[in-house]
Amino acid sequence: MFKLPWQKSCSHEKNTPNISAGYCPDCGEYVQNKWFITRCACCNIKQKTIVKNGKIISDTKFCRNCGSNSFVVEELNNLDIVNINYAVVLKQVVEIRKQSFIQTWIEENTFAPIKLLPSY
Ligand SMILES: [Zn+2]
Ligand SMILES: [Zn+2]
Repeated sequence: MFKLPWQKSCSHEKNTPNISAGYCPDCGEYVQNKWFITRCACCNIKQKTIVKNGKIISDTKFCRNCGSNSFVVEELNNLDIVNINYAVVLKQVVEIRKQSFIQTWIEENTFAPIKLLPSY
């Protein structure tokens, strides 16, 4: 279902969930915070959401309102105070072309040698 890209490397701890995106000071990746919430597929009530084994799931097995055990995952665009107690944050690394930028920079420097004055 939902893969957690941060699982194997940096957990970007310093990128607090109250910012929507920013550079991780630990690894230099551009990290986007995404909020998810689970709802009951039956009565649509919000469920306390957790991440377990790489999946976004409801904290409880059954809906406390209607007893259903099927839930849907929803991404939140705006995190409000009502949802913050239910939602879970995922930190997603945004690929920016840092690598090629560095490469270009090195190349440019290599091919821009010190301009020697012609010596006669
Ligand atoms: Zn990081
Ligand atoms: Zn329900």
